[in-house]
Amino acid sequence: MTFVFLPAPQAGVEIQGSAQRFPVRRIFCVGRNYAAHAREMGKDPEREPPFFFTKPADAIVPNHATVAYPPRTGNLHHEIELVVALGKGGGQIPSARALDHVFGYAVGNDLTRRDLQFAARDLGRPWDTGKAFDYSAVIGAISPAEKVGHPSRGRIWLNVNEQLRQQADLSDLIWSVPEIIAELSTLFELAPGDLIYTGTPAGVGAVVPGDRLEGGIDGLETLVTLIGPPAVQSQ
Ligand code: MN
Repeated sequence: MTFVFLPAPQAGVEIQGSAQRFPVRRIFCVGRNYAAHAREMGKDPEREPPFFFTKPADAIVPNHATVAYPPRTGNLHHEIELVVALGKGGGQIPSARALDHVFGYAVGNDLTRRDLQFAARDLGRPWDTGKAFDYSAVIGAISPAEKVGHPSRGRIWLNVNEQLRQQADLSDLIWSVPEIIAELSTLFELAPGDLIYTGTPAGVGAVVPGDRLEGGIDGLETLVTLIGPPAVQSQ
């Protein structure tokens, strides 16, 4: 079979200690999965459970990249997150078996155009322009679960220019990783290559060109990102 033009390259993520890459199929994200972050967004975590949104697979940005400050925003926010990489798919996955579907884990940053997200939220519109823009899914190398296990506790943190902005413990997640996979698999038939950004702790805030972001989770590769000047848009 031939195509009328070349298909886009397969999005992939580096795997720690391997020459092979993880092929990204879809990117799911959990919203408001830490109580303190839900409150800083003006929401009551007791009344509204977490929920899902998505980003396109080609929004992936590797470790140590410079991300051009994106267009149509004046309030670009960082959101440090644990990312789950699925190696096995399925629907209606019971939470007791959910971890069998995990290939590995990485540190991610769910970059957000907060002004566009809030404008959409206030109008009851979809979040795509605030969340699913180009270069919005930053991710470090994936550590295979067979090497690092399944982290359910441990420090998650983010520094901007050496200043601590976000800090929490994975045990603060409202929905645990098995609960996220079980819930998501009732909505979508999951597939190998799917990534799940599991939500960010409190302390989100704006970044500007020239900022250096460094974030980590105990046991996983530290994620470093530079924010560059706005790109010149091609036509
Ligand atoms: Mn997020």
